[in-house]
Amino acid sequence: MSDVYDLVIVGSGPNGTIIAREVHERNPDARILVLEAGSRITGVDGEHLVEVDENAMNASYEDLMRRARQIEYVKGAASMNSIEGDSWDPSSTGVFPAAFFGHNFAQFPGASLAWNIGGMGVHWTAATPWPYAEEVPDFLPRDEWDADLETARSLLRTYVGPLVENPFTEPIFEAIRAAVPSPDPEREFGYMPMAGVPHADRPFARTGPRDIAPYLFDASEPGLELCTGVFVTRLEHNGSRVTGVVARDLVGGEEIVFHGREVLVAGDALRTPQLLWASGIRPEALGVRLNEHASIDGDVVIDAARLGLTDADIPTPPAGEPFIGSYWSPSIGAERPAHGQLMEREFEGQHLLGVGWYCATEIRPENRIEFSDELTDALGMPHMTVHFSYSDKDMDVIRQTMQVQRAAANAIGSFPDGDSEILPPGASLHYTGSVRMGAADDGTSVVGPDGRVWGFENLSLAGNGVIPTALTCNATLTGATISVRIARALSSRL
Ligand SMILES: Cc1cc2nc3c(=O)[nH]c(=O)nc-3n(C[C@H](O)[C@H](O)[C@H](O)COP(=O)(O)OP(=O)(O)OC[C@H]3O[C@@H](n4cnc5c(N)ncnc54)[C@H](O)[C@@H]3O)c2cc1C
Repeated sequence: MSDVYDLVIVGSGPNGTIIAREVHERNPDARILVLEAGSRITGVDGEHLVEVDENAMNASYEDLMRRARQIEYVKGAASMNSIEGDSWDPSSTGVFPAAFFGHNFAQFPGASLAWNIGGMGVHWTAATPWPYAEEVPDFLPRDEWDADLETARSLLRTYVGPLVENPFTEPIFEAIRAAVPSPDPEREFGYMPMAGVPHADRPFARTGPRDIAPYLFDASEPGLELCTGVFVTRLEHNGSRVTGVVARDLVGGEEIVFHGREVLVAGDALRTPQLLWASGIRPEALGVRLNEHASIDGDVVIDAARLGLTDADIPTPPAGEPFIGSYWSPSIGAERPAHGQLMEREFEGQHLLGVGWYCATEIRPENRIEFSDELTDALGMPHMTVHFSYSDKDMDVIRQTMQVQRAAANAIGSFPDGDSEILPPGASLHYTGSVRMGAADDGTSVVGPDGRVWGFENLSLAGNGVIPTALTCNATLTGATISVRIARALSSRL
């Protein structure tokens, strides 16, 4: 048998990186290998694109971000790679619609996949609101949850405050607090928590995976290795232990088998269950109860006069920074299970506030990924069809949320009803539940509270797919909180 690592991780996005870091910090002697299918997207591996010292990359990032819609970003990022139809090329880098790989995502058309070192974590906007009320898994001890949330916030470097000095901020707070009141002063409209570090003279330095574990990306610690351009196609196992991680070298084409005492898959909420299916690991809940908050979107032109200001007061952010302000309308539980992410910016000559709301949808087994044993995708993996729809209750919540959105938007400008839009399912890029965590092996979950696949001694999963609750908030911080927990469990076994 070739080299045996203590831990083999699949995926170098934020979750794979958090696990690598947390296990390394607790077990400095452990040998950890991270396998990543994507290749280098910038000169500094794992660095967020906003930080990259390459003008063309910065410029396209800034331009795509200013549209303030993940779906526009994905469209732009895909066209940057000039891929058309089925001409998918694994040497491309970026974020691509899942359909590009040949899947049937007609009912979940916004869904996309990252294909580069650092995963979506080098592209993300970096909003890190925290989950609230029923968004927190009730079967996890609350004190552990709170401590893990704090650790995750610090790993992602969550910051709450202005992006730039901005006279519009306080009047916007005042207007929207009056229009969308909160009974809880701690859940009042305010700054959106953002993962990164503010700077006066350059863009807000969004946290990329490199900031979480620099030594993974610059190979400065002997115990950690990052192996890129290798696509994991199968886990060999005997029914209770993974005995080999089979990968294809995307350049040479040869098959390589890696061995780990522990194996963790953090390949995102779509490809993690796909890899398990391909490996014949098929618990009843695999791919079932796929969940995503509905995205209600729109833009309102900010009426400066109404806020007691003029257009001359609009600040100019540092070169490369797409946003002037980033604001949060927190959910307040069952009474308003929706949260707003409002991004202030200038776009096409207008001073805009993006009025985007995410509202929780019901967790239902009908919403699921169907894997095929006959068809394959562009990479030879099981073909996926997503079944996804909104229930009547979801539609009620969507309608209520649109009223909240309109009230907020009309408080600072003019927002006709027709300007409110429900984005296609998948567009938030925050899919959850496809490999859910649960308290018991009752057919509704894939992993237990320590992240291990039910029935397996050494196979764990992490990422947004593990999140068991219906979120209003952007998913990354919640997934990261669970990753901190899973890393602790892995460390103690090692
Ligand atoms: C434009 C944009 C804006 C976003 N904004 C926000 C935001 O503001 N707030 C927020 O919370 N979230 C946001 N997100 C989503 C956020 O980036 C993701 O939630 C987060 O990156 C998930 O981390 P992950 O590690 O689980 O998965 P990913 O970041 O997707 O990383 C998974 C990695 O695994 C690799 N991989 C997959 N399968 C295999 C395999 N079989 N073999 C080898 N490697 C494999 C992939 O190549 C990828 O690099 C945004 C995303 C985008 C694209």
